[in-house]
Amino acid sequence: MTEQAGRNDHDASASLRALAAVDEVLREPAVLVLLERYPRALVVDAVRTVLERLRAEILSGRSSPEAAGAPRVDTDVTPAALAPWVARLLEVAASPSLRRVINATGVVVHTNLGRASLPQESIDAIVMAASGYTDLEYSLARGQRASRQDHVHDVLCTVTGAEDALVVNNCAAAVLLALATTARGGEVLVSRGQLVEIGDGFRIPDILRESGAELVEVGTTNRTYLRDFENAWSERTRAILRVHTSNYRIVGFTAEPALQELATLAHERGAVLVDDLGSGAFADIELLREEPVLSESIAAGCDVVTFSGDKLLGGPQAGIAVGRAPTIETMRRHPLARALRIDKLDLAALDALLRLYLDPALARESVPTLAALAAPIDDVRSRAERLRQLLAEPRATGAALAADRVVVIDTVARAGAGALPVTEVPSAAIAVTVPPDEVDGLAAALRSGLPAVVCRVHEDRLLFDLRAVREAELGGLATAILNALA
Ligand SMILES: *Cc1c(COP(=O)(O)O)cnc(C)c1O
Repeated sequence: MTEQAGRNDHDASASLRALAAVDEVLREPAVLVLLERYPRALVVDAVRTVLERLRAEILSGRSSPEAAGAPRVDTDVTPAALAPWVARLLEVAASPSLRRVINATGVVVHTNLGRASLPQESIDAIVMAASGYTDLEYSLARGQRASRQDHVHDVLCTVTGAEDALVVNNCAAAVLLALATTARGGEVLVSRGQLVEIGDGFRIPDILRESGAELVEVGTTNRTYLRDFENAWSERTRAILRVHTSNYRIVGFTAEPALQELATLAHERGAVLVDDLGSGAFADIELLREEPVLSESIAAGCDVVTFSGDKLLGGPQAGIAVGRAPTIETMRRHPLARALRIDKLDLAALDALLRLYLDPALARESVPTLAALAAPIDDVRSRAERLRQLLAEPRATGAALAADRVVVIDTVARAGAGALPVTEVPSAAIAVTVPPDEVDGLAAALRSGLPAVVCRVHEDRLLFDLRAVREAELGGLATAILNALA
């Protein structure tokens, strides 16, 4: 053992002995004050946590990353010194965990940041539905029980052109329900090129297994023909599933049969065609041209088409299944439908959102996801220029960044959530040059602010992409950046 290690061991046991006991800390005046504000069990827990972290730190001889925010080994460990740490833990425990974030990543539909910001109409509907009773499952005209689906059924059929419609909790649930309804105990044919994993563990083979259907892989990764489906057909085939490969593209030497051909094959043989679109673009925006169009799936004769409420549609979390009446009706009556049902706040938001789509021009203007994706690059650049001015011009507070540290640059934004994976959306960002050894610390400081800011880091620059930042957020973003860099 080196002399240094020996001394550390000695220090450690001395520090452990000096560490206060739980009861001592609980008798500390500053902690007695906390006992008046918080339940006793919570305070005792917080004291234990602080002491355990300290003990672990003393034993390991360094502060662990998880213990960030806890006192350091070399600080005073008397009850009086520990009280503020206990207070801090209790404050964190009693505050809601979900925090506002300004999304300066340039990824518009960012799954980890909650996907879509809702239009005002949806926000108003959520507030209304949350703050009192509604006719959620009640017909006010007849004075009788009704279905929550009634609120969105007709408008969904109108905007999608489908015969029938059903909404559930999310798109993964819609796919699961479609397959459980049409193919449980039978086989489902899927092209090998479409056996994808989409984001956080949504894997087509897993969903298929859970639905009680058996997966039959058809064709090859890059080329699958109609005859491959014909050859794979058996007595037990119940459905063909087409999956939009959302987050990646197979390019080059590729082939997939047309939806119409698959629909004809399925229907001739008494099976159904399920088309999982994921994003489901139906806004008429140049940028969305690359996504499969919902109306084409309906026109091709798909029995069920599924898509998300909170991807390119720009609404709340929801899974929407539209298609032919006989199949949608059996889905509606399946026991799983109850387990996967949409909640009332999401339904309220979706109801209001879909009304906007009755007028496509109105939807483009007032659905934030569409507005962010469709904004002309000049608008994004001028937002960046305004942010640059807010950062570089001395203001009343006197805080400002040296003008040569802040520049407007061209960037590439993304739709996100697996939509338009290869589409480069031209965008603009503010690049702030910082000392190279401080760049990660500053990004962390921005993330811990109120509101939190999530940006991109590139070498010694922090990049704040303006594509997904709204006009109304510019002032808050400028303040957050100045605070973090102060
Ligand atoms: C995103 C996606 C899903 C899952 O949608 P959620 O609404 O997140 O459940 C399913 N299928 C495809 C093709 C997707 O892109």
